[in-house]
Amino acid sequence: MEDNILLQVNNISVVYSDVIQVLKGVSLVIRKGQIVSLLGSNGAGKTTTLKAISGLLKPENGKVTEGSIEYGGKGIHNSSPETITRLGIIQVLEGRQPFKYLTVEENLRVGTATRWGKPYKKDLELVYHYFQPLVARKNRLAGYCSGGELQMLVMGRALMAHPKLLLLDEPSLGLAPFLVREIFQIVKRINEEQGTTIMLVEQNANMALLIAHYGYVMENGKIVM
Ligand code: ATP
Repeated sequence: MEDNILLQVNNISVVYSDVIQVLKGVSLVIRKGQIVSLLGSNGAGKTTTLKAISGLLKPENGKVTEGSIEYGGKGIHNSSPETITRLGIIQVLEGRQPFKYLTVEENLRVGTATRWGKPYKKDLELVYHYFQPLVARKNRLAGYCSGGELQMLVMGRALMAHPKLLLLDEPSLGLAPFLVREIFQIVKRINEEQGTTIMLVEQNANMALLIAHYGYVMENGKIVM
């Protein structure tokens, strides 16, 4: 494997509940330091691809039945989500789910769960540096935050976990265009300034391709472009 490849998905097939085949021979490469976008319409299989990488198929009764996923040269397609998270692959799920009855800052601290006991003050400062609207909201219950604030919160929570590969599932979904622009600019800055490699799943191809170094288009469980 080339030195600068962080993640390589080799010809994977994914099946849910032993019978529903969703991915059919998907291959893609993510190089260190890049933003790679995975585009496609509803139901194309983008989320399934992310979950195959992060190990989150299992709770949905899904399985990688063929092919392999290599991260830093090691196969991870049979690893548990906990192991994959500890390797630095952090997924921000679609739909912005915070812990509603925790405050914004408490939610951010949950992001450090894989390394309890370690200091996190600098990480909080970093999150507030990128997601400034969260500063004024830090003591508010997450359940009272707006959609834009919640998107910032779930991305900030992921940053707290020190991602090496950040998987973002449709951050633009349902947000006003000005907020989408703001969030994409922050994603770009995190990539440039922190060197975080990012895989960005989007239906909003125009916005995603503005910041991505590379893009794949998916249709019906296959990469078509
Ligand atoms: P969206 O933008 O709607 O999230 P997507 O491109 O991310 O779309 P997936 O969520 O990966 O697509 O879904 C791809 C296909 O797999 C869809 O037909 C969906 O119904 C099916 N699917 C997803 N999860 C499951 C599951 N747990 N069990 C069975 N089928 C599933």
